[in-house]
Amino acid sequence: MTMPHIVALRALTDNYIWVIRDHCHAAVVDPGDASPVLDYLQRENLELIAILNTHHHPDHVGGNAALLREFTVPVYGPANESIPTLTHRVKECRDHESEEGNAYLPEFSLTLRVLDIPGHTAGHIAYYGANLLFCGDTLFACGCGRLFEGTAQQMLDSLQKLADLPNETRIYCGHEYTLNNIRFARNVEPGNQALIEREAVVRKLREQNVPTLPSTIAMEKATNPFLRCNEPEIIRSAGSRAGKPLSDPVSVFAAIRDWKDHF
Ligand SMILES: [Zn+2]
Repeated sequence: MTMPHIVALRALTDNYIWVIRDHCHAAVVDPGDASPVLDYLQRENLELIAILNTHHHPDHVGGNAALLREFTVPVYGPANESIPTLTHRVKECRDHESEEGNAYLPEFSLTLRVLDIPGHTAGHIAYYGANLLFCGDTLFACGCGRLFEGTAQQMLDSLQKLADLPNETRIYCGHEYTLNNIRFARNVEPGNQALIEREAVVRKLREQNVPTLPSTIAMEKATNPFLRCNEPEIIRSAGSRAGKPLSDPVSVFAAIRDWKDHF
């Protein structure tokens, strides 16, 4: 049994649909559109074996129904969100063996554990296993998702949960936002040398039209302002933005999230 590998399919404006594949099977994460998936499966002569959704937004689930017309496969997704096509409603379970706490892909001998990461949406989940993290619109490369349904405290807790995963964890998120996120981050933390170096690398990748993902937890802890709300420079920047000194991480997080919303 060889480890499956991961392929990025571009979809819609700036979404990525992640394909977990071996030589004959494929599972897809967040198919916002079916056509790039169907084209890829046909071109590579692969059989679809599962769909995984992280949250209910149309640019992440919009392709489910069309894929299900071609393939009868399990559809995993958040237990606490309304996605009509789900067959397996999953959520984080303290018992890691529990069926409703995992997405199991037997073709790859791969079990992905479900993590609850509310904030962007109320029931948002991530899938984690074999050093892979599929986190939808919660943690982005050098950024995080907008707070559509959750609070700053919830999002910060969710991001902290992801930051606590092993450093080498590879991060597959839902959008190509990295370069813009870095531009913003440099305003928040201009003195961060790792961020300056990352911008050079990411700029080169984008010039060649290459995805800037996956990232890693180590890279995000070094450069992502939303994971660095205890850094003195970020606390100062957030305070100037808010017009008052901020001391606790939630206020710092909320101030830079709001700043990014208007950036
Ligand atoms: Zn979303």
